[in-house]
Amino acid sequence: MAGRRKSPAIGIDLGTTYSCVAVWKQDRIEIIVNDQGNRTTPSYVAFTDSERLIGDAAKNQVDMNPINTVFGKWFSNDVLSLVPSDAKRLIGRRFSDDSVQSDIKLWPFKVVAGPGDKPMIVVTYKGEEKQIPAEEISSMILVKMRETAEAFLGCTVKNAVVTVPAYFNDSQRQGTKDAGAIAGLNVMRIINEPTAAAIAYGLDEMAANSIGEKNVLIFDLGGGTFDVSILAIKQGILEVKATAGDTHLGGEDFDNRMVNHFVQEFRRKHKKDISGNARALRRLRTCCERAKRTLSSTSQTTIEIVSLYDGIDFYSIITRARFDELNMDLFRKCMQTVEKCMKDAKMDTGSVHDVVLVGGSTRIPKVQQLLQDFFNGKELCKSINPDEAVAYGAAVQAAILSGEGNKKVQDIVLLDVAPLSLGVDTVGGVMSVLIPRNTPIPTKKEKVFTTQLDNQTSVYIQVYEGERTRSKDNHLLGQFCFSGFHPAPRGVPLIIECFEIDADGILNVSAEDKTTGLKNKITIVNDKGRLSKEEIAKMIQEAEKYKAEDKEHKKKVESRNALENYAYNMRNTLNDEKISAKLAPAHKKKIEDAIKEAIQWLDNIQLAEAYEFKDKMKELKSICDPIISKRVY
Ligand code: AMP
Repeated sequence: MAGRRKSPAIGIDLGTTYSCVAVWKQDRIEIIVNDQGNRTTPSYVAFTDSERLIGDAAKNQVDMNPINTVFGKWFSNDVLSLVPSDAKRLIGRRFSDDSVQSDIKLWPFKVVAGPGDKPMIVVTYKGEEKQIPAEEISSMILVKMRETAEAFLGCTVKNAVVTVPAYFNDSQRQGTKDAGAIAGLNVMRIINEPTAAAIAYGLDEMAANSIGEKNVLIFDLGGGTFDVSILAIKQGILEVKATAGDTHLGGEDFDNRMVNHFVQEFRRKHKKDISGNARALRRLRTCCERAKRTLSSTSQTTIEIVSLYDGIDFYSIITRARFDELNMDLFRKCMQTVEKCMKDAKMDTGSVHDVVLVGGSTRIPKVQQLLQDFFNGKELCKSINPDEAVAYGAAVQAAILSGEGNKKVQDIVLLDVAPLSLGVDTVGGVMSVLIPRNTPIPTKKEKVFTTQLDNQTSVYIQVYEGERTRSKDNHLLGQFCFSGFHPAPRGVPLIIECFEIDADGILNVSAEDKTTGLKNKITIVNDKGRLSKEEIAKMIQEAEKYKAEDKEHKKKVESRNALENYAYNMRNTLNDEKISAKLAPAHKKKIEDAIKEAIQWLDNIQLAEAYEFKDKMKELKSICDPIISKRVY
């Protein structure tokens, strides 16, 4: 290495509609312009009879070559170009996955099951049909971004930090890494888009003010995904407090609403349905997206399309108010997500110091207004260019990892959070949480457990993640048997269970018998068995839905445990010679029989209603308490 200049590591925002690349150069982050002089590059890949086009070139030929260049997720089966936003959603998924199947229904391009059930995108290139995995389409964009950086830097680029939506699961992240490898890049790290934006913001923030703590809400509304994150920034440390989002909400949905609006208008005006015509829809969609952008700065705009359908020219007007109305439910959904994220972070509007806008769709005035109203009129931070913030943060991370950048950069430490609660199964099938959802990682938590039975010499430890009370409703991550401790009465052994998550998100679970020092542990890797964002969202949703039911179950288990504990404690009391000596044999027998009967009753019914356990408890207490209290105290 000595004497040779290292090629700098770059940061790439592989965006849903646009991608952006940045690098640390001469003590600052530089957003790199592409060969067209643009700071962002459309995430488009087009396949034609003679060539493959990527970025601006692919987007620019859309109108001249409509049949062979279709973009967005709304185009037809004869698609010859693809938008990686959609391809991106297929990365790391299996064809038979429910989420893939439901996405496919929405996509006009053809997706088939390839080897190993992997989704493959079907395109026609140079007159031949080809099946291309999603990773490869994404890699084409990454190549374009790498070449853009190389042209700017004048040297080859090998290392990059690439961003992904916050809740991409492990296999989707792996898929993105694979896309990088296909593009000839070593992906040093995959980081979450909002986190990257926060790093960008954190850097600016810390340059301006290095003392004090700030809570920042990152509102990231892009072309196809929506993410909200709340971070605490303190002396160069960024801690992610909570994240929430929707993988299927963004600018394309707003475009879609407008398209539907005009399809209906066309039907009304011309008595013709254009919804089955892919080319007409695509042309209409292009105009709608343009109109939407215009409406962010003017209150009214026009749509003009020559020979849209059956030779009919289409002309119409749309106001900002109408556009807002068409999308109001979606905008409100965004605000509900903000509310949820705040709840998770246990914050109120007053404790958020800054609200940062990321993603092109945050330029929509109504979105800004609703967000500002939510925060009681607070000024929103727009100092970071919403299209560039993610790449900016990725480049900072790349500089940190490759030891470049100045002290300010090197001082940033990023803490992530556990997306779901982690715990173990306990008596009654109830999950005992050791690490609650949204705990910053790395983290280490311990809890003391004991045995359920007399002379028990082993416990079975089952590790779960999820938000439901009952373990079986959550996701089993792993299990192991901890055995070999000394026989002792129920409740005597002290078993310390320890959960530790390292910086890479890998969970280690260990158990230790306090008296003997005996230890056992397993490692649970965040692998393909972990949950996708959809699954996580579903589990959280279900958790809310079944909260009442869970509460009821918890009550039953608690009252059962209370009865059981009382019965066993009473038996231990009787076994205490000092106490037993003071009891008349008839009284002792009365208590023994009552305990025996209660334990038998418990053995025969696993779970009765809470009141039944309570009644039984009352009955047992009415026999035992008067005798014990009279004799002993
Ligand atoms: P991103 O994925 O962050 O690149 O965001 C791209 C999305 O932002 C696309 O759906 C664009 O249509 C949308 N967008 C970009 N500029 C504007 C604007 N001025 N007004 C409304 N939406 C915009």
